[in-house]
Amino acid sequence: MKTAQIEQTETLNPYEIAKQQIDAAATKLQLPLHITELLKRPKRVLTVNFPVQMDDGTVRIFEGYRSQHNDAIGPTKGGIRFHPDVTLDEVKALSMWMTFKCGVVGLPYGGGKGGVICDPRTLSKRELERLSRAFMEAIADIVGPERDIPAPDVYTTPEIMGWMMDTYSRLKGHYSPGVITGKPIIVGGSQGRTNATAQGCVYAIRSALQDIGLPIEQATVAVQGFGNAGRIAARLLAELGCKIIAVSDSRGGIYDPNGLQIDRVEQLKDESSIANYGPSCHITNEQLLELDVDILIPAALENVITQENAARIKARIVAEAANGPTTPEADSILSKKGTIVIPDILANAGGVTVSYFEWVQNLMNYYWSEAEVLEKLETTIVQSYEAVRDLAKTYDTDLRTAAYMISLKRVTEAMQARGWV
Ligand code: GLU
Repeated sequence: MKTAQIEQTETLNPYEIAKQQIDAAATKLQLPLHITELLKRPKRVLTVNFPVQMDDGTVRIFEGYRSQHNDAIGPTKGGIRFHPDVTLDEVKALSMWMTFKCGVVGLPYGGGKGGVICDPRTLSKRELERLSRAFMEAIADIVGPERDIPAPDVYTTPEIMGWMMDTYSRLKGHYSPGVITGKPIIVGGSQGRTNATAQGCVYAIRSALQDIGLPIEQATVAVQGFGNAGRIAARLLAELGCKIIAVSDSRGGIYDPNGLQIDRVEQLKDESSIANYGPSCHITNEQLLELDVDILIPAALENVITQENAARIKARIVAEAANGPTTPEADSILSKKGTIVIPDILANAGGVTVSYFEWVQNLMNYYWSEAEVLEKLETTIVQSYEAVRDLAKTYDTDLRTAAYMISLKRVTEAMQARGWV
C-alpha cells in the first residue's frame, strides 16, 4: 500500500524533475515567467531512426535522439549515451542539466545531449562501430565544432568518439577533431580527459570534507557504478587514503568494511566480474546506497535516491557523479537531515570542463600537458564549489538550488544581452 502511495506522489520522469529544479531556483531569483518557460524547453530536438547491419547479415533499426537545450552562451555541448532504457524525455532532461552544468563552472557552452536506444553489451565491436558511425551520420547536419559538440556518456568510450569524429570528418571532407570530445589522445583527445569526471568529483569532495573538518584519509566511501566516473573516482579516492568499503556495477555490489583493494576490483571488472572479489560480501545496489559511510557516490543512472530510501541514506556527503541520481523529494529529505549533496551539475562537471579544454586545444591545434589540464580543472572546480557553497549560505538553501541560481543567472543575462528575452 505504501509503495503505491509513493509512486503517485513522486515523478521519476527526468524531464519533469529538471523542470522542478529550474522552478526552485527561478523562484529564488524571481525570474520572469517567460524566461523560466523558455529554459524549461529544449530549443531543438532531433529524433533519428537508422539501419545497422548486424554481423549475421540481418539489419536492425535503431532509434536515437539529440537534444540542444540552449545556445545563448555558446555552442551546445554534452555526451551521447548508449543504453536500452534511453528515452526522449531523459535526453531532453540531460541536455537541460548540461546547460546548467556549463553555467555553474562558467564554460562558454550551452547544453546538449544525445542517446541511442541499444544495449552495447550485446553488440560485437564491429556492430558497435557501425552503429556509432550511423548515428553520427544521422545527426551530422546539426552538430559541428561551432554548433553542438558531443562527448562520451553512459556506455560510450574514447574509441566510439574516434569513430564518430572520423565519420563527421569524412562527411565534411576534412579532419575535424573539434566536433566531438573525449577522443583518443592520438586523434586530438586531451590529456586528463579520461579521468576528468572523477577527478572533478574528487576535487569537489575534498572541498566539502574541508568544510566539515573531516580529513580525507579518515573518510569511508561507497561508490554505485563502476564505469567512466565511478571506477576512476574509487581509484583516485583510494590513492588519497580513503577507505572504499563498497562498489557496485549494474549486476550488483561488493562490500568489505575493512576496505576493498581497488586495483584488484578493477582487474576483476576487466577480466570477469567484480562479484568474484573475495573475501567480501555481496550486496545489492539498493543496500550499497544505505551503508554507513562518510561519502556516497552515486555514479550510475538517474533516480536511485528517491523519497522511498532518502531517510535511510546515512552518508554525510552525497557526491553526484551520475546525472540526476536524486529526486527533488529525496533532496528535501536529505537537506532536512543535514546531508551535504554536491549536485551533479557541479560534482560531475569535471568531464565537460576538460572536454572544453580538449575543444580549445583542437581549435588552436596546440596541445597541453596533463599537469596544465589538471591545474586548470582544479581551479575551475574548487572556485565553482566555493561560489555555490557561499551562495547557498547567503540564501539559506541547498547546494543544488544555489548551483542552479548561478547558472540560471548567467544564461538569463546572456539571453538578455542577445535580445532574446
Ligand atoms: N557526459 C558527460 C556529462 O554528462 C560529459 C559531457 C561532455 O564532456 O561534453 O557531463
